[in-house]
Amino acid sequence: PLVLGIETSCDETGVGIVHGTTLLADAVASSVDTHARFGGVVPEIASRAHLEAMVPTIERALKTAGISAKDLDGIAVTAGPGLAGALLVGVSAAKAYAYALGKPLYGVNHLASHICVDQLEHGKLPEPTMALLVSGGHSSLLLSSDITSDVRPMGATIDDAAGEAFDKIARVLDLGFPGGPVIDRLAKEGDPAAIAFPRGLSGSRDPAYDFSFSGLKTAVARWIEAKRAAGEDVPVRDVAASFQEAVVDVLTRKAVRACKDEGVDHLMIGGGVAANSRLRALAQERCERAGIRLRVPRPGLCTDNGAMVAALGSEMVARNRPASDLELSADSSLPVTDPHVPGAHAHGHS
Ligand code: ATP
Ligand code: MG
Ligand code: FE
Repeated sequence: PLVLGIETSCDETGVGIVHGTTLLADAVASSVDTHARFGGVVPEIASRAHLEAMVPTIERALKTAGISAKDLDGIAVTAGPGLAGALLVGVSAAKAYAYALGKPLYGVNHLASHICVDQLEHGKLPEPTMALLVSGGHSSLLLSSDITSDVRPMGATIDDAAGEAFDKIARVLDLGFPGGPVIDRLAKEGDPAAIAFPRGLSGSRDPAYDFSFSGLKTAVARWIEAKRAAGEDVPVRDVAASFQEAVVDVLTRKAVRACKDEGVDHLMIGGGVAANSRLRALAQERCERAGIRLRVPRPGLCTDNGAMVAALGSEMVARNRPASDLELSADSSLPVTDPHVPGAHAHGHS
């Protein structure tokens, strides 16, 4: 199916067009630079930026794909979870286009889209697949048995998201925002074993698949503070490498354990933190040892984009899932157990 997908859950205005599992266009306008000076995403600024970027980004995607909007089989949009005001811009645009063009509308789940996007790079996703989603807003382990109807949460962070931890540590080290890419780069020149930072929720009595990064964040901040108080130089590269190792060690260990426990032999990693080079390398190493096939989309598909929404929308069409009605509303806390928001749900959650 030929589907256009719209993503506005956070700070990226994304419009993608796919034909089945083939990517035809992936237009993204980001307001991340506007937020950088605030050290994080400012919801009001994000909503306004989406509003300004929406129509031009849709037109750019249609042009790149070389199709006319009337050829589409459906329009998909992120219905949640995300920032309420930001989501509303995408949902309103999708409804307007669906109505004007007489096309079916599919309100889909942002997290399920992050999983489904891998199809655009590596072909049909096997089911079941275990997914480790790690971004600025999420850190979850999800078991996808049917990407359009059966996504089960195995575990999630109980405090900060993994990307949030990268961003906060980067702030403590005065490295700017977002912190992930720069820590990744500096860590390559540092020693990951230099400092033994804590591995959150890794005790034998801790929940097997949940994550915690706030204790790690505090430990790193205290360690830096103590160095500075003693008048010593902070070994930024070693701190970056040791912090990063603590994060990716726990993420990969728990993801592989979940696969083994559930008898699942495919692991996908998505979300902005999946761009992390050490996470990719360690996951590959541990998956190989456990006989698990690892799938990680290229970085551009890991961060928020419209192509991932289109990819999931295309599955909805292909599997004859009911379309959403035109009263579809954004749901900032849409549970991951709802990969899409069909007609019956469209009037509000029950
Ligand atoms: P959401 O959580 O809704 O997906 P988001 O904008 O926070 O929204 P993404 O755009 O997917 O998430 O990812 C951004 C996050 O990924 C930031 O926290 C950023 O620091 C982190 N990140 C990006 N590149 C890397 C990297 N190479 N290593 C570690 N973290 C990274
Ligand atoms: Mg983002
Ligand atoms: Fe996301």
